[in-house]
Amino acid sequence: MHPMKTCNKCKKSLDYSKFAKNQTKKDGYENYCKSCKNTYNKLNYGTKFTKAYLKKEGYGIYKVENIITGEYYIGKGWLNERKVDHFTKLKAQKHSNPYLQKSYNNVKHEHLEFLILEKCKPELGSERERYYLINAFLEDKNNLLNQHITIRWQ
Ligand SMILES: [Zn+2]
Repeated sequence: MHPMKTCNKCKKSLDYSKFAKNQTKKDGYENYCKSCKNTYNKLNYGTKFTKAYLKKEGYGIYKVENIITGEYYIGKGWLNERKVDHFTKLKAQKHSNPYLQKSYNNVKHEHLEFLILEKCKPELGSERERYYLINAFLEDKNNLLNQHITIRWQ
């Protein structure tokens, strides 16, 4: 018997072929089935953000910087996809990082910039992200909006 995977959205137990591959996920597949992911993408990104568009810049480490206050958030992932995701959630007041949300709310939309720090292979993402986070923590800790690293080193 083939192993099955449960879609986090529709909760159906489906064959792995119903899930798109994603190297950044633990088991190598998306958490939503292809059908749910398509609906999700259309609802969240609109039709102009096609799969090809979201992958266009490739994978890497990025910084979302508030150019007024100097505060910033560092992350990794498919660059266009992460950019669209961060800004969509910030705009909707639904970002999972309350510090970044607060920083965004204090300025105008265009004062938050998405900067690519480095492009790398997905398998090197965690290591490279860690490198930038450590440097950020050592050099400019007060402006760093990533919560987990602050907690880890307290
Ligand atoms: Zn589903």
